Amino acid sequence: MKILLIEDDRKVGRFIEKGLSEVSYSVVWVRTAAAAKDALCETAFDALILDLGLPDGDGLELLKNWRQSGFNEPVIILSARDAVQDRIKGLNLGADDYLPKPFSFEELLARVRSLMRRKSDQKVTTFKHGDIKMDLLARTVLVEGNPIELTNREFALLEYFIQNIGRVLTRTQIAEKIWEAHFDMETNLIEVYVRRLRKKLEMNEDKESAIKTIRGVGYKMA
Ligand code: CA
Repeated sequence: MKILLIEDDRKVGRFIEKGLSEVSYSVVWVRTAAAAKDALCETAFDALILDLGLPDGDGLELLKNWRQSGFNEPVIILSARDAVQDRIKGLNLGADDYLPKPFSFEELLARVRSLMRRKSDQKVTTFKHGDIKMDLLARTVLVEGNPIELTNREFALLEYFIQNIGRVLTRTQIAEKIWEAHFDMETNLIEVYVRRLRKKLEMNEDKESAIKTIRGVGYKMA
């Protein structure tokens, strides 16, 4: 289980990092909003622990931006602001839980565990991004309300993109995920698939593609 901890207070941060590592969570600890943005764009986390007062920004703003750009990782807000208004605001912006400071580690751990349980209970099976709607169980994709036909590989590729909105996926990652290839696959094949997928997703030609090419690296759905 991988947790992103966003906390600028060294003492509190160290305390949480140590505690979670001891119970075998893998913790990435960052101290600024900017570092949190980078970390989240790089990899997926199972949960985020977010302090609200950060040196370079407000945790609530950060949360709002993440939710707007499609990141759906569970978030526990950690904050000295225990006013009811802040709590409601945080939950409205998409936080899953709220823990006022000071707190005991046991309490934090209990909440992290409960979040993980909830997460594994309700696996997300439908996605919406722009005018694309994807249902993993029914195995259907709608673009602007119209069903489109995808091959199994194209479907898997779109699923990988839509589950990682805003993240750059490298050619190697895509090859491993979609082709289970651990060798340096002919990257041309990925390009061919991405091109086909784009074509099917773009009903009209002058529409900007949802899948962006990141030159020399890979692709990103944004
Ligand atoms: Ca703080």
